[in-house]
Amino acid sequence: SKEIRLAARPVGMPKESDFEVAEATIADPKDGEVLVRNIWMSVDPYMRGRMMDRESYVPPFQIGKPLEGGAIGQVVKSKSDKFKEGDYVNSMLGWREYFVSGADGLTKVDPNMGPIEAFLGVLGMPGLTAYAGLMRVGELKDGENVFVSAASGAVGSVVCQLAKAHGCYVVGSAGSDDKCEWLEKEAGIDKAINYKTCGDLDAAVKAAFPKGIDVYFENVGGAHLQAAINYMNPFARAALCGMIEQYNATEPAPGPNNLIMAVGKSLKLQGFIVSNHFDLLPDFYAEMSKLIPAGKMKWQQTVEEGIENAPKAFLNLFTGKNFGKMLVKVGNDP
Ligand code: NDP
Repeated sequence: SKEIRLAARPVGMPKESDFEVAEATIADPKDGEVLVRNIWMSVDPYMRGRMMDRESYVPPFQIGKPLEGGAIGQVVKSKSDKFKEGDYVNSMLGWREYFVSGADGLTKVDPNMGPIEAFLGVLGMPGLTAYAGLMRVGELKDGENVFVSAASGAVGSVVCQLAKAHGCYVVGSAGSDDKCEWLEKEAGIDKAINYKTCGDLDAAVKAAFPKGIDVYFENVGGAHLQAAINYMNPFARAALCGMIEQYNATEPAPGPNNLIMAVGKSLKLQGFIVSNHFDLLPDFYAEMSKLIPAGKMKWQQTVEEGIENAPKAFLNLFTGKNFGKMLVKVGNDP
């Protein structure tokens, strides 16, 4: 069974040589364990942080050991009374074709709720991130003015459509005309800004928000955050979800130079990590099960085939080659 190991800690933008495709022997499951064949695995921006040797909310990956991350697979052999052969399971044991595990850390996936890979995207961790960040951290109220960066991505696209479903005026930024067109025509947001071609991002954000910003959903950092702070209304909230622009930085990034405005405008800038908001899962599923059948929650995905292409899929996140959720198809779905 193939697995992808961390070969070296990346410096700056990761390289393919920081990863190694290796062969692993898979033991037979013991009592209480299952053998799982992965079908889909997720690559996510946060994994870049785990490649560094530093203290964080998740422990660092170890050199020479397989990487970890969200995956959907199928139980092929079960010695657990919690799962039977054929069950689909969600685990954190991606980056490998097969694994043996106890029942802890595995959750059953209902293939009738949606395509199984959606549990790595719109119905999974990125979807819940969008919901928790917008509704709880961002304290969204119906009809507010919302700005979203990396708006066409796995998290951003859900944020955009949730805000639309709450009657908001929504502006998103993305890195290509195709993504912007999808955001306006398919996701139904009010305006999309191509931050690569708009020239002056600050001026574009100002022009897009004649009534100012009430909630900023931050995925990017840097100039995006600075522009948002400039045009946030008094008592506006920023949900700081991620700052992907800085994940490969080798030097500390320059701060937004206008943070002092947070004082006068009584802004709330709050970071959050999705794993502290799992209690919202039932509310999140309830909302999604209304929006998806009504055609009010659409999504895109980009798929790389074969586990050996997982490093490439991961690297593509940082150049925006993914359109929507970035996935790797590890095996066939029978
Ligand atoms: P996406 O699907 O949004 O993929 C990443 C996208 O980021 C790219 O497609 C690209 O889109 C954009 N991007 C990459 N580099 C840059 C850059 N230098 N400047 C501007 N945009 C860039 O990924 P996710 O939806 O999975 O993640 C989005 C954000 O949410 C990330 O910051 C991630 O870390 C964060 N996150 C946080 C969680 C939490 O618990 N706090 C949980 C999950 C995600 P484009 O073409 O538009 O540039």
